[in-house]
Amino acid sequence: MPSRKFADGEVVMGRWPGSVLYYEVQVTSYDDVAHLYTVKYKDGTELALKESDIRSQSSFKHRKSQSSSSSPSRRSSSRSRSRSRSPGRPAKGRRRSASQSREHKDDKKKTIQETSLALAVLVLFKPSENNTKRYNGEPESTEKNDTSCIILEQKLKPDLEIKRVLEQYSLRSRKDDKKTEEIFSEKKTFVAVKPIEKVPSKTKELEFGGRIGTFMLIFLLPATVFYLLLMCKQDDPSLLNFPPLPALESLWEWRVFGIFLLWFFLQAVFYLLPIGKVVEGLPLSNGRKLQYRINGFYAFILTAAAIGVLLYFQFELHYLYDHFMQFAVSAAAFSLALSIYLYVRSLKAPEEELAPGGNSGYFIYDFFTGHELNPRIGSFDLKYFCELRPGLIGWVIINLAMLLAEMKIHNLSMPSLAMILVNSFQLLYVVDALWNEEAVLTTMDITHDGFGFMLAFGDLVWVPFVYSLQAFYLVGHPTTVTWPAAAAITVLNCVGYYIFRSANSQKNNFRRNPADPKLANLKFIPTATGKGLLVTGWWGFVRHPNYLGDIIMALAWSLPCGFNHILPYFYVIYFICLLVHREARDEHHCKQKYGLAWERYCQRVPYRIFPYIY
Ligand code: NDP
Repeated sequence: MPSRKFADGEVVMGRWPGSVLYYEVQVTSYDDVAHLYTVKYKDGTELALKESDIRSQSSFKHRKSQSSSSSPSRRSSSRSRSRSRSPGRPAKGRRRSASQSREHKDDKKKTIQETSLALAVLVLFKPSENNTKRYNGEPESTEKNDTSCIILEQKLKPDLEIKRVLEQYSLRSRKDDKKTEEIFSEKKTFVAVKPIEKVPSKTKELEFGGRIGTFMLIFLLPATVFYLLLMCKQDDPSLLNFPPLPALESLWEWRVFGIFLLWFFLQAVFYLLPIGKVVEGLPLSNGRKLQYRINGFYAFILTAAAIGVLLYFQFELHYLYDHFMQFAVSAAAFSLALSIYLYVRSLKAPEEELAPGGNSGYFIYDFFTGHELNPRIGSFDLKYFCELRPGLIGWVIINLAMLLAEMKIHNLSMPSLAMILVNSFQLLYVVDALWNEEAVLTTMDITHDGFGFMLAFGDLVWVPFVYSLQAFYLVGHPTTVTWPAAAAITVLNCVGYYIFRSANSQKNNFRRNPADPKLANLKFIPTATGKGLLVTGWWGFVRHPNYLGDIIMALAWSLPCGFNHILPYFYVIYFICLLVHREARDEHHCKQKYGLAWERYCQRVPYRIFPYIY
């Protein structure tokens, strides 16, 4: 096998895909399977290039002196001539020197070259969902006119052109903007571009503390769940009052495990029912789109009906409360077994089906973050199924079981106001997620993260057993909530929900149909991927308004538990940490996808989640 020609960190000249333009780039890595170099352009854009599209800087400089070639090096020696055709340049006669006039005979040829270059760059501006790591529309060199970056001089003209277009494009409301439509139609004209070859390369930047961090999380996450559940069972769940450890044999009961399996497979059956529409997910790295059945809400209705039947026949749902820890252990054991299965099968998965975030080559890291992006058994998508069904619907059932347990244990004819609030708020959240199930297809969990221990444990253990902590807490620690307090908490939850829902809908609708007349008054910054970045509406308020709404709701879920202990506030504290971390991950991905367009968005919208705070 031939060895690689360019080393990591080396500064070379990389061809801009689909054009004959060469830019100064730095080699960041090499994929020896796909034989592709990942290179970073000066504006932060990263692309995968073939070796034939890369040249050393020295060969480039050497070729600059040659005169007969129509290669990029030939063109770089005629910088002044090319600029002469730039729209912003002074009149020809004023700038043309005697020596330049000798080269006049080449003008016709160059005109053709320039035209095709202009097209090449404009082609890069065409909308493409697939090639997200393309030119971001605003190369640094345009603004700085950086000649140290040896860009062929023809680039200047199209760049200026694009910048002008961008400015027109982004700073106007789209309502009456005919020019925008013209630009869109212009873009549609240039479709014959060779797509950039995008093969998932090795994950270089490790998240979650890398190998050591992920190794520790594999133990820390289950330990946290069991600590929280044990604490909740205590009369005094103060932080310093460490709970006694239960006997090991008390943690496992086959009957409980059987019920858990029954639950999981019942949800799988609901998922397989041919009801609900089938939609396509986002394009994968190979351009293929997977199909997903949207029937989570139906699964919820069927589950509710099944639970209704069980209650009618006097099934004691508070069995769940009595064996809560055993259920959590069963779910954890199942998620561990599932993660092992997922990792083993991922070893046979083709390279193109591996997750961009979980392909480091380190066993622990890939096991934790998930090696395979979309593991499927036939058309059964394991990750998509686990994301919203067994855990999320299970959370609502657990809450209901806690409500019934509270009534039984405290001999109540109706649940406490605090329990009603917690149950209703969280029910709304789950129903909303299931109703808008399609939106999950564009989340990081589906598009970036593989299916491994992190999501398997998160979906099947963390969500149902930690998110139901407030209801679990209220069973053992009754809390009185006055009506005015209940009203205030309800308003808070509604405000959070309103921000969360409208922000998510605004973005989802914009992604689905940017030309939607309902969104006509929103402004956006265009990017060369074809997607815009909203800069007005919720997404102009902070960069993650949906997280803000989610956090406000999390607070409203904890407040009915009073202020005696911090335990029921675990969720909101953890959730802030989770979303701050998630926001940082998302920023990083968006910076890679959109380069300077993203930076420009950050300048326009400086706060990430909390206005004027963070
Ligand atoms: P988001 O819905 O926040 O989406 C982030 C993506 O939106 C970015 O990657 C980018 O993707 C796009 N985007 C960013 N800025 C803009 C903009 N200005 N205009 C248009 N598009 C933009 O992703 P998450 O998956 O993190 O969250 C989804 C929901 O799930 C949130 O409401 C969150 O609160 C919730 N959530 C809940 C959790 C829980 O445990 N309860 C856990 C995690 C999330 P692109 O440009 O590629 O479209």
